Amino acid sequence: MNRLAEAVRSFALTRWVARKSRADFERWQAGALRRFLDRDLPRAPFYGKAPACLTDLTVTDKALLMARFDEFNIHGLTAAQAWAALAHDGRAGALTVGASTGTSGNRGLFVISEPEKYRWLGTILAKAAPDLVWRGMRVAVILPQNTGLYDSARKSRLIKLAFFDLTAGPESWRGELEAFDPTVIIAPPKMLRHFAAEDFRLRPKRVFSAAETLDPVDRPVIEAFFRLPLDQIYMATEGLFAVTCRQGGLHLAEDSVFFEFEPAGEGLVTPLMTAFRRRTQIMARYRMNDLLRLSKEPCRCGSPLRCVDEIVGRMDDAFRFTSLDGPILVTPDVLRNAVLKADRRIDDFRLVQTGPESIEFGLPPTLPDDAAVAAHQAVRALLEMRKAAATVTLVRAPLPLEPGRKLRRVECRLEPAR
Ligand SMILES: [Zn+2]
Repeated sequence: MNRLAEAVRSFALTRWVARKSRADFERWQAGALRRFLDRDLPRAPFYGKAPACLTDLTVTDKALLMARFDEFNIHGLTAAQAWAALAHDGRAGALTVGASTGTSGNRGLFVISEPEKYRWLGTILAKAAPDLVWRGMRVAVILPQNTGLYDSARKSRLIKLAFFDLTAGPESWRGELEAFDPTVIIAPPKMLRHFAAEDFRLRPKRVFSAAETLDPVDRPVIEAFFRLPLDQIYMATEGLFAVTCRQGGLHLAEDSVFFEFEPAGEGLVTPLMTAFRRRTQIMARYRMNDLLRLSKEPCRCGSPLRCVDEIVGRMDDAFRFTSLDGPILVTPDVLRNAVLKADRRIDDFRLVQTGPESIEFGLPPTLPDDAAVAAHQAVRALLEMRKAAATVTLVRAPLPLEPGRKLRRVECRLEPAR
């Protein structure tokens, strides 16, 4: 098997699909989905046979996939074997094993084949930087190293890839990164912001935020430092999810995933995804934890792929309260907006639900007192308006960079409600 050919074919397919009309695209997607249901999905023991239509299949989630891991991949690889492979070098025979960076005990495993790896790479490049590929590009990827996908491109001639381990901390590879002089940087927003704060010597042509939800407070800081618009690559255990186009539209990866949407209140939806180009680990009608706001308008770039206005965070991080009228859910975006609107000088904070009726609100000591008081008041007013009984404790302390942990400014530390 020619690996590069796999990447090139995927690159070409991704570009070709992006030029279709929405109607033509939907026809192509329906055909690809049908082939997946007939040919690929039945090979996973959990399914065994092709459904009459997609919606006949049961909805899956991370808990089910992890509990019956071996039944969802076509090689019968067990979760125990996959964890063992991951602890070693991430290889299980010809397969690559990876895991998401979630909180401990909540990590998702995935397994992919070599052709899938290269297909993934071709797709990423076609979406992220098609114009740069042919001019030779140096891509710096700064992500946790346990996501085995990223080994693929190191050897290719058109692209030089360098990987920097997020968990090792930037001080250990700063010199190396600056010497590499990347034209494309892919990193979590907190790390991009750290580059700005520490004035790293970098001059990329394109910068992508990845692996964490991009919080609007980080965008202006990062864009001002690099003097570039900040783009997004949104990935999860489940694969590639959305990528920003050159016009700034955040397009869902509908060319490899069929999305269904469940309403989550306040104009938000949570997606069910069916990854119709994956053949090793079958993911069908997989319920994700993310809260999205879908765009109503098509993007100016002309791509038929649907856009998302905002990925507002994770359902897990919505604050949950009880009241006389029943349960109350306050989503991360609402909480975040309340804080940021209170005072324009606020550009960082932490809001954590620590108990059924208690919230800790962290603000850095460098923020003037009147801004902190205004923000504290704004959060209390929001909860009062929603009739949620909770105490908000203000904590003035530095907010340190935690390279090994996903940054969530709004975080719920209650046990999940199911
Ligand atoms: Zn677009």
